[in-house]
Amino acid sequence: MQRGSNGDGGDGSRAPGRGRAGWQMAAAVALVALVALIIAGVIAVARAGGGSGASERAVSAVPRDATAAPAAGPLDTATPAPAAAPASAPSPAAGASATPTPALAATPAPAASASATPTASPDAGALTVPAQLGTGETIALRLRAPGAVSATVQFRGASYPLITLGEEFGAVLGVPLEAALGPAQLTVSALDGAGGAPQRWTAAYEVVDRGREVDHVALTDEVAAVLTPDASARESALRVTQFARSDPAPAWAGRFQVPIPGVVSSGFGVGRSYNNGPVGGFHGGLDLAADAGTTVLAPAAGRVSWVGAMPIRGLSVIVDHGAGVQSGYHHLGAAFVTVGQAVAPGQPLGLVGSSGFATGPHLHWEVTIWGVNVDPSAWTATGFLR
Ligand SMILES: [Zn+2]
Repeated sequence: MQRGSNGDGGDGSRAPGRGRAGWQMAAAVALVALVALIIAGVIAVARAGGGSGASERAVSAVPRDATAAPAAGPLDTATPAPAAAPASAPSPAAGASATPTPALAATPAPAASASATPTASPDAGALTVPAQLGTGETIALRLRAPGAVSATVQFRGASYPLITLGEEFGAVLGVPLEAALGPAQLTVSALDGAGGAPQRWTAAYEVVDRGREVDHVALTDEVAAVLTPDASARESALRVTQFARSDPAPAWAGRFQVPIPGVVSSGFGVGRSYNNGPVGGFHGGLDLAADAGTTVLAPAAGRVSWVGAMPIRGLSVIVDHGAGVQSGYHHLGAAFVTVGQAVAPGQPLGLVGSSGFATGPHLHWEVTIWGVNVDPSAWTATGFLR
C-alpha cells in the first residue's frame, strides 16, 4: 500500500525497511445501518510490501487497530490531504489552521401548522449554525427563542432535543464521514409551553469534504476469515443499542482532556481502500499508541454506559457525557469501571491493551454524537456549548 502522506504515521504502518515482513494491520469497515447510525468493522491487514514512501519512522509495530470505521457509505471521496480541521470547531488539537466558517443566522419561517403565524414579537429569535459543515465534524448550533421552553432540531432525518443554555438553547450534532456532499438544511422547532403554535427556523448549510487521507491496505485471507460479517453485524447491533439513548443533560464542561499521552498512530477519518478498491470505510476514531498498561483517563465528566468485549473493538468502555455525546475506549487490557458509575474528568477508566483486532497496544478513542463518529481532537481543542 502506498501512503499518500506522512499524516499520523499510524495508518502508514508499513515498515519500509522490513521488506516483506508482513505486518498485519487492521482496518475496519462499516456498514451503514440507518441514516444516522453506522458502524461495523472490517479489519484490514496491510502486508508489508516493498518500502513505500512512508517515513522511516513508521516503525514496525505501529499500533493501530482494526477497529471498525464508521459506516462505509456511498462514496465520499477522501482525497489525500492533511488531517481535517474541524470547521465549526476552532483550532483542532493537531494545530492545523482552523477555518472557522461564517455563521449563518436563519430567519424564522412560518410554522407549518394552520393558524400559526410567527409571533410578530419585537424579537423573533435566531438560529445560528455554521454555513459549512465538514464530514466528521462536530457542529454546535444555538437558538435564541424568546418565550420558548423547549426546542428540537430535525437533522438528517431524525429529531434531537436541544439543551437549555441560559437564555438560549443549543445542541451538538455530528456530520457523518460518509455524508453526501453539497447543500442541505436543518430545521429547529421551539414550543412556548402554553400550547402556542411552534415556531420554526430553517437554516441552509453545505456539507463539504475536508480532504482526509486515504490509506490503501491489503486484506489477507487470514483476516478476511476472522473478520466475518457476523462479527461486524454483532458489533453494529451492540452499538446501535448503545447510542440510542443518552442522558438529557450535558455533563461535560469545557474541553475534553486527552485520555492518554500517546502519540497519534492513526488519524480520525482516514479513508480505507481495501485491495485497491474504492474507499470502503473510514477510521472512526483516533488511535493513540502507548505501552500496554498505560492508564486511560476519563476526558470529561459523565456516566459509564457500557463495559464489555466487542467482537472487533475488544474490551471497551463507553462513557455517556449527555446530550447525545459519548466517548469510547477500545482494545483495553483492563476496565476499572462499571455501568452506571459516574466518572469525573481524569478518573481512571482502564488500561491500554490490544484486545480485539489490533496490531499492538494502543487506545482507539472514539467520540460519537447520537452514534455518529466525530473527530475526538475537536473536543480536546474546543469546549462545545459549555
Ligand atoms: Zn483506531
